[in-house]
Amino acid sequence: MHDFVIRNALLLDGLGSAPVHGDLAVAQGRISAVGKIKDLSRETLDADGLALMPGIIDNHTHYDAQLTWDPLASPSPALGVTTAIIGNCGFTIAPCRPADRELILKNLTQVEGMSLEVLQAGTRWDFESIPDFFSMLERQGVALNVAGFVGHSSVRTYVMGEDAPRRAATTAEVAMMKDLVLEGMRAGAVGFATSTSPNHNGHAGIPMPSRLADEHEMRTLVGCLKEAGRGVFMLTKGGHTTVEFLEELAAACGRPVVIAALLHQGTSPRSVFDDLEKIAAANRRGRRMLGAISCCPLTMDFTLHAPYTFEGLAAWKPAMSLSGAPYRQILADKSFRKSVRDEIARPAAFRLFNGEWDKVYVEHAKLPKHRHCEQQTLVEIARARGTDPLDAMLDLAIEEDLDTEFSALLLNSDEQAVAELLRHPHSLVSLSDAGAHLTLFNDAGYGLHLLGHWVRDLKVLSLEEAVRRLTGHPGEVFGIQNRGALKPGYHADLMLFDPATVNRGPKKRVQDLPGGGARLITPPIGVHGVWVNGTRIADEKGLRPLDRLPGKVLRDFNS
Ligand SMILES: [Zn+2]
Repeated sequence: MHDFVIRNALLLDGLGSAPVHGDLAVAQGRISAVGKIKDLSRETLDADGLALMPGIIDNHTHYDAQLTWDPLASPSPALGVTTAIIGNCGFTIAPCRPADRELILKNLTQVEGMSLEVLQAGTRWDFESIPDFFSMLERQGVALNVAGFVGHSSVRTYVMGEDAPRRAATTAEVAMMKDLVLEGMRAGAVGFATSTSPNHNGHAGIPMPSRLADEHEMRTLVGCLKEAGRGVFMLTKGGHTTVEFLEELAAACGRPVVIAALLHQGTSPRSVFDDLEKIAAANRRGRRMLGAISCCPLTMDFTLHAPYTFEGLAAWKPAMSLSGAPYRQILADKSFRKSVRDEIARPAAFRLFNGEWDKVYVEHAKLPKHRHCEQQTLVEIARARGTDPLDAMLDLAIEEDLDTEFSALLLNSDEQAVAELLRHPHSLVSLSDAGAHLTLFNDAGYGLHLLGHWVRDLKVLSLEEAVRRLTGHPGEVFGIQNRGALKPGYHADLMLFDPATVNRGPKKRVQDLPGGGARLITPPIGVHGVWVNGTRIADEKGLRPLDRLPGKVLRDFNS
C-alpha cells in the first residue's frame, strides 16, 4: 500500500517530457508509482490540476555556516528547493583547526554578506575535518538534502594558516592540500570548488586564499578528481582565468567543469557569449564543461559601510582595509575618486559595476532633507547637485554617516541576452548564491522566478524545459542519484505549484540572523506543497512546523 497519492496533477517529469495529467504515489520516502493509480493508499491529496515536479536542485548555494545554526536552510525549502549544493566558490568552513576559526569566518564576512558578529554568534564548531563536518550535519539533521564541495580556500587555510591569503604555496604545502582534498572526496564530497574572482575578498579586503594559488597548485588539486575517479570541478573565475586553461584542466582530470559566473554585462555585451562559445567548442572536443548562468537580474542593495558592488575594483583597494574616520577620509579624497572613476571608464571583460549610474537608485535616505532623493537615480541626483554620479553617491553617503541605502541593477538585466543564455545548450541555470550576500540580494527563489517570469510571462522556455533545467539537468551534471525526476524508485522530492501564479514575491528585509543581523528574503507565490524524501515540509501557507528533519547529507554520486 502507498503512503500517499497525489491525484489529478499535471506531471512534469524533470526530464523535459511533455506534461501529462496523472497521479503520483509515494511509499517509504520514494516515488512508488506514476500514472493512473488505482491501488489503495493511506492518504490522498487532490491536486485539482496543479503542476507537480521534482524538487529543485539548487547547485550554487553558500549554506555551509548557516546550516550549523539553521538546519532549515531558510528560505530555500519554502521556495521549492529540496537539494542544495554547498561550498561553492570554495568557501567552506571545513576543514578548520580550532585556532583558525576566526580566520575562516573573517574570510566569509565579505562574500557572505554577514557580519563577523553574526557568524561568530551562530556558527557551531563540532568538527575539524571535512568528514567530521558531514557527520555533524547528519547528527544535527537538515530539512533539505545537502551535498558539499571540498572548498579550496578552507583547505589552503588549514595548511597555510595566516599565510593562506598572502603567498603561493610550497610544493610540500600543495602535497598536504592534496591529501585533504582526497580525504574530502572519500568522505563523499560532490567535487572540488574554487574561485579566482577579484570580487571575492575577505575581511578588510584580504583576497580569498584560493586567489593566491598558482597553476601547479590548481592542476594538482583539480587532479585529485581524476584520482578519486569522480566529482565535479566548480570555479568562479576572474578575468585572468581563461576558458582555455580550464579546458586543459578538464582534459587532464577527465571530470565535468562548471564555470561561474557567466552574467551578462551591458557594457561588454558579447563577453559572456564568447565564453560560452569557447565552452561549446570544448564540448565538441569531448570535454564536459558548463557555464553557470543566472535567470535573475543581479541587483544589489548596499550601503557604503560594505559596498561589495565596488570592492572588486583595484582602485577601491586602499579603502578596504580602513574603517572609521580614515575610511570616511578616503571616500572624500579627490585622488581616490579620480582613480575609481578612471578604472570604471576603462573596458573590462567582467566587472560587477560598469558605470551604469542610471541603474543605481537611492533606496532609503536617512535624513529627512534627503528623502526627495529616494527612488531617484544617481544620474538625476548628480544633475541636481551639479556634480558627477560618483561624487553624488559618496557625498550623500558621507552626509548620512554612510547609512544611505542604495540599490544597483548591475548585471543580467538585458532580457533578450538572458533569454539567449537560458536557451544555450551548455549553460547551467545556477548562481542563486542562497546563504550568501544576505544584505545585498536574495535569489534563493530563482526557480520560481524561472517558472513565473521566463516561462509564463515571457514564454522563453517551455514549462517542461524550465523544470528540467531546475531538476533533472543539475541532477545529472552533479551525479545526484535517484533525484531530479518523477520516476518510480526515485526519492520523493517534490514541488506542487500553480503555473498560473507561481513567482517569487517582493523582497523584504528581516532581522532574524543570530544576534539580530538583517537579511533580505522573498516569499514564495503559487507554491502549494514541497516534499523532501516523502515528508511534506511546506504547504500553501509556507513552511510547516517539523517534528523531524527529512533531508539527507548526500555522499554517493554517480558523476
Ligand atoms: Zn558563490
